Amino acid sequence: MSHYHAHDVLVIGSGAAGLSLALQLAERASIAVLCKGELNEGATYWAQGGIAAVLHKNDSVDSHVADTLTCLLYTSPSPRDRG
Ligand SMILES: Cc1cc2nc3c(=O)[nH]c(=O)nc-3n(C[C@H](O)[C@H](O)[C@H](O)COP(=O)(O)OP(=O)(O)OC[C@H]3O[C@@H](n4cnc5c(N)ncnc54)[C@H](O)[C@@H]3O)c2cc1C
Repeated sequence: MSHYHAHDVLVIGSGAAGLSLALQLAERASIAVLCKGELNEGATYWAQGGIAAVLHKNDSVDSHVADTLTCLLYTSPSPRDRG
C-alpha cells in the first residue's frame, strides 16, 4: 500500500538541527520531518548537558572547540583506565 503526502518543505533529520528549522518554518509552510530509524537514535537524544553553541559576539568557534575538548578530557576514561 502506498501513501501520498504533500508538503511545502521536507526536513531530513529529526535532531536539534532539523527540528529547529521545522519550528522556524512551521508558521509559514507545511513541514514534513523525515528521519532514519528511531527518533532516539540521533546525537540530540544523547546531549544530556544541553546544547551548547556559539551565540554571543564575544564567543568564538575556536573557544567552543577548546571547551568541548577540555570537557572530553574530564569525562573520558584515562588511557590507564581504558585497559
Ligand atoms: C553522547 C553524546 C553527548 C552529547 N552531549 C552534548 C552536550 O552535552 N552538549 C552539546 O551541545 N552537544 C552534545 N552532543 C553533540 C550534540 O548532540 C550534536 O551536536 C547535535 O545533537 C547534532 O544535532 P543534529 O540535528 O545535527 O544531529 P542528530 O541529532 O544526530 O540528528 C540527525 C538526524 O538525521 C537523521 N538521519 C541521518 N541520516 C539520515 C538519512 N540517511 N536519511 C534520513 N535521515 C537521516 C537521523 O535519523 C536524525 O534524526 C553530544 C553528542 C553525543 C553523541
